[in-house]
Amino acid sequence: MAFSLEKILRPHILSLVPYSSARDEYTGKEGIFLDANENPYAAANGQAWNRYPDPYQWAIKEKLAPIKGVRPSQIFLGNGSDEPIDLLVRATCTPREDNMILLPPTYGMYQVSAEINDVAAIKVPLTSDFQIDTEKVLAAITPHTKIIWVCSPNNPSGNSVKREAIYALLEQFSGLVVVDEAYIDFSDEPSFTGELDKYPNLVVLQTFSKAWGLASLRLGMCFASEEIIKVLNKIKPPYNLSGATQQLLLEALNHVETKNKMVRDILAERARLGTNLLSLALVKKIYPSDANFLLVAFENASAVMQYLIDQKIIVRDRSKVLLCDGCLRITVGTTEENDILIKTLKEFAVVA
Ligand code: PMP
Repeated sequence: MAFSLEKILRPHILSLVPYSSARDEYTGKEGIFLDANENPYAAANGQAWNRYPDPYQWAIKEKLAPIKGVRPSQIFLGNGSDEPIDLLVRATCTPREDNMILLPPTYGMYQVSAEINDVAAIKVPLTSDFQIDTEKVLAAITPHTKIIWVCSPNNPSGNSVKREAIYALLEQFSGLVVVDEAYIDFSDEPSFTGELDKYPNLVVLQTFSKAWGLASLRLGMCFASEEIIKVLNKIKPPYNLSGATQQLLLEALNHVETKNKMVRDILAERARLGTNLLSLALVKKIYPSDANFLLVAFENASAVMQYLIDQKIIVRDRSKVLLCDGCLRITVGTTEENDILIKTLKEFAVVA
């Protein structure tokens, strides 16, 4: 189906003249800068944070592009993935008129962003094995559907969504298909970033919060066509990533091997944790995971949850979430943390 960005953008976004910052108007690096009402002095602690940062983070994008196999102009960086999630909704969905499709159980922010923006969210549940019911999703599309949100690997179930289903949506839906790959580094599946040049309606989200271990920096990545990225740049707050964040990220990008090693360690621990959990009688089922967490069905999830809290071990109760009856979501920790979890669960089995 033909995709037209003009058709899916809200009309006022299409015609919006964005804020033009001093750093937009003069991009040279050398000179006496008297254009941005900055303080000419570095702060008392000697740190030079007195200048506004690059609004488009080009140094980072140049470095990140070859790592991700995309062009710098196909990258948007935000304050966590939550920033591009919200910007995508705001760019495309007119409140009380347009809608988007969510596939529960899934990451909660798509729904919250819909509510913040007063946009309807049509829910088409995943199947019992957490796969997309393509026919039902296609049938749920209305002339006002602007975005379909796919989370793969999916949170909270952990599995990857079958690629054919995502291709079917990309091919048969004329709005945006957003594939949230926050957990992609923990999966053997290739990223959908490799499909960007083929599908103009594809948007891929990733994050530095998981595999890279940088959750506190708040850094989300959005990959899409150059024209979609231009729209996000147009509506973002001018300096959405601080200079300090940019500096820390540039440094972190020199250490891809460290990230890969952390991922390998977490994957080994995921396998070990899974085997250990399965040996416990109170564990009914562990869902296959391509992420850094396991969705685990327990005999008595709320009692287990409470016992773990009493022992100062905090997992996520997903037992009230659609298709996740009796389930706790457990993030893979360090070897030591996982050992304590297993030991504590064995003790629960004795006291219960
Ligand atoms: N997407 C998914 C699927 C997630 O599970 C999470 C975090 N729980 C995020 C995005 C948020 O990532 P960020 O820290 O970049 O906002």
